[in-house]
Amino acid sequence: MGRIYLDHASVTPVDPRVLEFAERYLKNDFGNPSSLHSLGLGAKRFIEDARGKIAKLINAEKETCIIFTSGATESNNLAIKGTALRNVAKGKEVAASAIEHMSVLNPMKELQKNGFKLNIIPVDSTGIVDLEKLGGVLTKNTTVTSIMYANNEIGTIEPIKEISEMVHEKGLYLHVDAIAAAGRIPIDVQNDGIDLLTISSNDMYGPQGAGALYIKPGVRLQSILPGGGQERGLRSGTENLFAIAGMGEAARIAKDEMEQENTRLEKIKDKLIDEILKIEESYLTGHPTQRLPHHASFRFSRIEGESILLNMNMRYSIQVSTGSACSSKTLEPSHVLLAIGLKHEEAHGSMVLTLGRSNKAEEVPIIVKAVKETVQKLRKLSPL
Ligand code: PMP
Repeated sequence: MGRIYLDHASVTPVDPRVLEFAERYLKNDFGNPSSLHSLGLGAKRFIEDARGKIAKLINAEKETCIIFTSGATESNNLAIKGTALRNVAKGKEVAASAIEHMSVLNPMKELQKNGFKLNIIPVDSTGIVDLEKLGGVLTKNTTVTSIMYANNEIGTIEPIKEISEMVHEKGLYLHVDAIAAAGRIPIDVQNDGIDLLTISSNDMYGPQGAGALYIKPGVRLQSILPGGGQERGLRSGTENLFAIAGMGEAARIAKDEMEQENTRLEKIKDKLIDEILKIEESYLTGHPTQRLPHHASFRFSRIEGESILLNMNMRYSIQVSTGSACSSKTLEPSHVLLAIGLKHEEAHGSMVLTLGRSNKAEEVPIIVKAVKETVQKLRKLSPL
């Protein structure tokens, strides 16, 4: 039996069609896109092609609304610090939900150290942002509010349109980290009223090393990486063209295949949830219905998520996650699971399964059997 990869929220494999497309750039149009000779102009065409495909994926007003960066972390930093610093005359307050990724929370905390007021908005037990609390903290001084489209650890999809209306009633800009949602569920920045939106290549079957930030026309922000003035002066540095070209093609494929792929993965996800919840003392984390179609997340009493991950990998060659790959270096429980109200010992028993293109319905019984055996084995060994 080959491996079964169920950790698509950490990274997606590069789609072979993307690789083939982006390779053409390396072979033929390897110029610097800022050069005016034919190889430079050829390279520039690849960037503009990618910009157009990404604009289409999220229904941006125009292609120039898209700025390329090195990835999600940089896009989040640019969105948050770039707008807060550029609009400091309007106020020094920022807000974010308690379940944002560290690449949102840490730039916010950096602003806080530099004299900004940071408001953290709680979520309910399913991970939905507390709208009453949000309404209560927003003021005319709140220049940037960051709420993710969907959470990568618990799969919950936030009511972004409603949030956008609240933010625009009192504050200035809404930034949305769409890493877990982009390319998975339809996103329409115009209909949702989003000012800034973060997307990443490596969460959409594109190569690592590229990200994008959508910036609504009229939104004012300053560069956090000054230099040669590429990307409208907002993000200097020679473009990572292989990754950008690949990201564009990845966005095109995701848009074209989204509906069909969602129907297919949703069935597998529902079956996995039904079967895994039959295990004693197992619980779904996140929202039961308002969740990503490829996302199934659980917690099990009396065992550790790390042991589940290692056992599933070694004994069954099935790769799962315990939460965010970025926080796996610390043994602290996930801040997302604590924010939905779990106790430390409960948060430690988490397992996240995120499906992707390689997964098939026939794998469900194999996965379920492996999870059942793993939980049984670990509970036998558990002193709790
Ligand atoms: N936001 C979210 C929701 C994420 O899951 C991640 C990690 N995949 C990031 C931001 C940061 O991504 P990267 O480490 O690729 O910059």
